[in-house]
Amino acid sequence: MPTTGVPTHEVLDRLEGYRHGDLRWKDGRAFSLAYFAGPEAHELAVEAQKRFSSENALNMDAFPSLRALTTEVVGTVCSLLGGDDQTVGVFTSGGTESILTAVKGAKEWGRSRGVHRPRMILPTTAHAAFSKAADYFDVEALRIPVGTDYRADPHAMAAAVDQDTILLVASAPAYPQGVIDPIDEIGRLAQDHDLLFHVDACMGFTLPWLERLGLLTKQWNFTVPGVTSMSCDLHKFGYTAKGASVLAHRSKELRRHQTFITSDWLGGLYGSAALLGTRSGGSLAAAWAVFQHLGEEGYLRLTERAFRARERIQAGLTSIDGIAVRGAPEATILAFGAPSDGAIGAAVAGPDRQPPIDIYAVADRLWAGGGWYCDRQTPPDSLHCTMNAVHLDVADDFVAAVGSAVAAQREDGRAGDRTRAYGTVE
Ligand SMILES: *Cc1c(COP(=O)(O)O)cnc(C)c1O
Repeated sequence: MPTTGVPTHEVLDRLEGYRHGDLRWKDGRAFSLAYFAGPEAHELAVEAQKRFSSENALNMDAFPSLRALTTEVVGTVCSLLGGDDQTVGVFTSGGTESILTAVKGAKEWGRSRGVHRPRMILPTTAHAAFSKAADYFDVEALRIPVGTDYRADPHAMAAAVDQDTILLVASAPAYPQGVIDPIDEIGRLAQDHDLLFHVDACMGFTLPWLERLGLLTKQWNFTVPGVTSMSCDLHKFGYTAKGASVLAHRSKELRRHQTFITSDWLGGLYGSAALLGTRSGGSLAAAWAVFQHLGEEGYLRLTERAFRARERIQAGLTSIDGIAVRGAPEATILAFGAPSDGAIGAAVAGPDRQPPIDIYAVADRLWAGGGWYCDRQTPPDSLHCTMNAVHLDVADDFVAAVGSAVAAQREDGRAGDRTRAYGTVE
């Protein structure tokens, strides 16, 4: 902190100075982390966020504007998720908060039925946030291996159900390989055993639009009997400002278990819908504004572009010798690496019989050489791409960059950096 305050313009100049070296997401270099629907939607989100940044969504009696905006945004998302007039939701700061809150609610629901050592059953592809929830709330997370198509295995999940089981989890689509779990079969399982069933559609804001475009026919949402809650992020494929997700419940009765209320302090009656206390109204206002600005036509257009980008990049990557795409991606996500052995395991030589490529070394080259950023996953070793609307224009450039990186890697066989994480580890 300087002794004497610095003038505004100089502060902003200095602040901008910190950016050099950052991922260039507006140029389509980011295959997760940031999404771009073009300058107009982006600037509108920033402006709306700014206008409501100091309003506090902890207390909507004091800010009726935020209650009205919440009703509209959450209501829109519930209906996009196939909900009916019983479906309710809460606006949260992101997928992690939606998931933590859902698991916390499931734990309370289980407790109300006498389950004191709660357990959830989830596929190995379910997001890391479920493990975080298990850790925070002391719920056992039993991860069940997915099939060779990377989809959840309902039979193996059924075999794992016991009297402490409270919750089943599936994804639409799953983050690692972009496939949609068999929601209908798992819904039946949940009904047969009278369990809660959460569908994580944090990446699934694309799905209602893909359905309308005729690019998806699978069932994935509240229209499936047995689905009791869903998470859906808006700061990903809703193309709005960071800090925006919805946790939806099939009914008010199910939502009740997640709400926290206490009067056990000297501050009087306190209640909060999810994990955060004070919460900026900014991300809510931004989500409302972007919904209005893009409208259904905007989301159809953007989602189709993202889907075509995935198809184009998938086709391009598949044509590179020694590179395979994992499973059969269904939405706007894919993962690629050296072909693996059919089981979800070790890389094997490509069709050309050359040794398997170190795909993490390819990631190092993509980042150092062209500023392309892909997440690193394992097992099996692979790179992850979430395509959004911005990627259609750079699809061929990216495939070419991967092709060059693979060729260079064959030349010198450098070892890839295995220390980088999906998030930040400190
Ligand atoms: C991104 C994501 C999450 C976590 O959401 P955050 O917004 O990063 O907290 C959970 N599940 C899936 C499928 C995701 O893609």
